Amino acid sequence: MKFQIALVGNPNSGKTTLFNTLTGSNQFVGNWPGVTVEKKEGKYKKDKSIGITDLPGIYSLSPYTLEEVVSREYLLNEKVDVILNIVDGSNLERNLYLTTQLLELGIPVVVAVNMLDVLERRQDKIDYTELSKLLGCPVLPISALKNKGIEEVIATVKMMAKQKNEPKNIYEDSLNQVLNQLTAFLPKSIEASQRLFYSIKLFERDSQIRNYLNIDLDEDIIAKYEQQMEDDSESIITDARYMYISKVVSKVYNRRHREGLSTSDKIDRIVTNRILALPIFALVMYIVYYVSVTSVG
Ligand code: GDP
Ligand code: MG
Repeated sequence: MKFQIALVGNPNSGKTTLFNTLTGSNQFVGNWPGVTVEKKEGKYKKDKSIGITDLPGIYSLSPYTLEEVVSREYLLNEKVDVILNIVDGSNLERNLYLTTQLLELGIPVVVAVNMLDVLERRQDKIDYTELSKLLGCPVLPISALKNKGIEEVIATVKMMAKQKNEPKNIYEDSLNQVLNQLTAFLPKSIEASQRLFYSIKLFERDSQIRNYLNIDLDEDIIAKYEQQMEDDSESIITDARYMYISKVVSKVYNRRHREGLSTSDKIDRIVTNRILALPIFALVMYIVYYVSVTSVG
């Protein structure tokens, strides 16, 4: 069976490492039409009927960077059969932010939790079965670097290909009522499975999507809900995602060293400290100016 996989994930989650392992030398590198964002396409080396695209690394499907626009246009308009979402397991919370958005596209998603070796070294544990239940899609651990769990992922992707997929809705009832009202404005040409995604974009006032759809919309629907929630629509969606994710992570992530902070966490603690942050910032700026005026300047 012929089908197309899209590799999607945050920058540095291990997409390219996995892409190279899967395709070997069967790959072609170019640019996305009209932009200088790299496009990598290939065939699965053990089954040439499976096409794989390595999408640019992104944190979100918003329209703020070229990478985001390229990725979401590809996912919405090309015939992608399965999204293979690479998640950095050592940064689960941050990575799942994108996952919640991918699950709204109405395309089958398989989540590969990468960096298994790092998790094992830290002796942190993730309950993959529970995570899979909560997200409503298959979740498997892999190490792209150590070539672990890859065959299982491909087997799962094959199972998910060509399946019908319901988008996952994580929003509370009051927000869903608003989204439903917005859905009514969508053109009939938008498929049922994509209507949730588009209604969220309308709610967020995503101007690119709005232009693309070219529709009239009763903006009051959005404004009224914003007033009620005392927040802007984009933040309402972002908050809903983070609330959902923190609930999920608290259920599935078992940190062995609860106290142990990574080096970057330790630095963050100091430089973002409520009292020390500004003096440190002033000092750094002073040093930068001092150096540029005296020695270098
Ligand atoms: P991309 O930005 O998503 O394409 O990520 P890359 O494939 O370029 O990987 C980013 C970095 O993570 C590289 O230094 C990889 O060697 C490393 N990496 C990828 N997979 C793993 C893994 O399973 N374990 C570990 N320890 N490192 C990995
Ligand atoms: Mg890459």
